[in-house]
Amino acid sequence: RRRAAADRRGRVVRRLALAGLLLTLTACAPGGCQQTGAPETGDPGPVEEPLAGDPDPAAPAGPETPPAPEPVSWPHEPGGGLYPGSGSGATDATLWAAGMRFPIEAAPAYANSQVYGYGGYLAPGPGGQCDARNYAYPWRDNFCETRSWTNGMCPAGRGHQGQDIRPATCEKKVHSAVAAENGRITSIGSYTVTLLGDSGRIYRYLHLDMAGVRALFPTSASRDVTRGQHLGKVSADFGGNATTIHLHFEIKAPVAAGGGAATVMFVPTYSSLVDSYGRLLNSAS
Ligand SMILES: [Zn+2]
Repeated sequence: RRRAAADRRGRVVRRLALAGLLLTLTACAPGGCQQTGAPETGDPGPVEEPLAGDPDPAAPAGPETPPAPEPVSWPHEPGGGLYPGSGSGATDATLWAAGMRFPIEAAPAYANSQVYGYGGYLAPGPGGQCDARNYAYPWRDNFCETRSWTNGMCPAGRGHQGQDIRPATCEKKVHSAVAAENGRITSIGSYTVTLLGDSGRIYRYLHLDMAGVRALFPTSASRDVTRGQHLGKVSADFGGNATTIHLHFEIKAPVAAGGGAATVMFVPTYSSLVDSYGRLLNSAS
């Protein structure tokens, strides 16, 4: 019986040895043998997850940081969306004067039409220029509004060359127009102030109180201006003719056409006014 038991142990040992050899053989490839079954090193063990709601010991105590304020917006029609029946707007949506200062010192201001608004020649109904509906949003583009003036940016090849903007209230000589950028006043006409910006763009401000403008800039030596500097008060000067109380604001910029030399021409103003007014409303003029 002892011998039979020894034989059984011997068979078991041989079987285990054979199994080990086979394991070793299957783990060997022509490039060498891989060690199999070795324990992985660096096992981190069970990770303790923080419980939801646990206070973060690094977080400062006290009131929560207030969220950033929502950007202030105001109702405005899209660029090129002229008053119905007043012509076809420009299709160009380029931001021609990125970063410029809104040309009136303070909000609110109302971009809309002097001709097709209340009190205009082609008003939608009875009412004077001081009608509350003229001093209300939404804004409306009026670059390219029907006019006989040449305007290469308008579908008709002619049209209104700038944007009309009413100041906060229907009063002359109260609301200041300001420089859109650093530059120089190159001309003070009978109802037009021309600013040549350091960017090379030209800005024209029409219908200011011109006597006040001349008082601010009595000599050519005084005509270098900085962005935001007062240029004069919004009024209704029109070289002896009547107009409404508003700022007519224009931008002229070099426009390259067909690979040829750039031509300085009137460019759509509305997108730059929307951009700058948004910054003004958000106290970041
Ligand atoms: Zn105008």
